[in-house]
Amino acid sequence: MAYNRRMTDSPRSGELDLAIIGGGAAGVLVAIQVLRQAQAPLALAIFEPASQLAQGIAYATPWPEHLLNVPAAKMSAFADQPGDFLDFLQAANAYPGEAREVLGERYVCRHYFAAYLQQRLREAEAAGAARLQIVAQPVLALHPDDHGYQLQLGDGQTLHAAQVAIATGNSMRPLPVDGADALPADDVVEAWDYDGVRTLASDHALAIVGSGLSMADTVLALVAGGHSGP
Ligand SMILES: Cc1cc2nc3c(=O)[nH]c(=O)nc-3n(C[C@H](O)[C@H](O)[C@H](O)COP(=O)(O)OP(=O)(O)OC[C@H]3O[C@@H](n4cnc5c(N)ncnc54)[C@H](O)[C@@H]3O)c2cc1C
Repeated sequence: MAYNRRMTDSPRSGELDLAIIGGGAAGVLVAIQVLRQAQAPLALAIFEPASQLAQGIAYATPWPEHLLNVPAAKMSAFADQPGDFLDFLQAANAYPGEAREVLGERYVCRHYFAAYLQQRLREAEAAGAARLQIVAQPVLALHPDDHGYQLQLGDGQTLHAAQVAIATGNSMRPLPVDGADALPADDVVEAWDYDGVRTLASDHALAIVGSGLSMADTVLALVAGGHSGP
């Protein structure tokens, strides 16, 4: 189901009508809306260095214990089609035999949301008049000019876009602890390193600093990984 078709290192032409910087949930949602509404063959591109679109931080987890924090019936990408995410889940047979109204109340696995956005992007691209390129490069700099913006890519290329949507999401903040800079990189596992957290499960004592949703993700991953220490 992964959206990895036509990932390119460089756009085919230097001129874009719209550059979408970041291909997480927000960037992909922008692309879907533009593709659905475009009446002319606009040139748009998503710039995303990660290998998969629509995952970003939240939906990159492959683990089933990491759930959406919103019920499935409220996660549609389209205001005028509130049941659209439910339609996707049922078509994918994600929860076999579960009645639609029960599924609508369920907090489903987060990876389904990335798969949903990837599918809706493919469909919007196939049906729309606009042309979409996926460029596997970060955008390092933006310089406004008289007609839009010059974009500088990670590979040193520059190109021009009339309009830009910035959808680069959140970044992990530095560990707010004295001495954190001195920790060897191999000893640091970030909460959003979903596989890395699971490998911490052991019979050792473990302290979790912070009490937000990533704490809940971490506890669930440790339990699922078989953690038996305090
Ligand atoms: C752990 C976690 C769980 C969450 N769970 C939920 C949930 O259940 N339901 C919900 O509605 N929301 C949830 N959220 C909020 C969620 O982050 C947002 O709903 C949404 O995913 C944010 O999308 P985004 O595209 O803004 O950011 P992201 O999904 O983080 O995507 C940003 C993208 O930009 C790319 N990027 C960054 N810099 C550059 C650059 N210079 N050039 C090109 N690309 C770049 C990154 O590689 C990344 O793919 C959660 C957030 C977190 C952190």
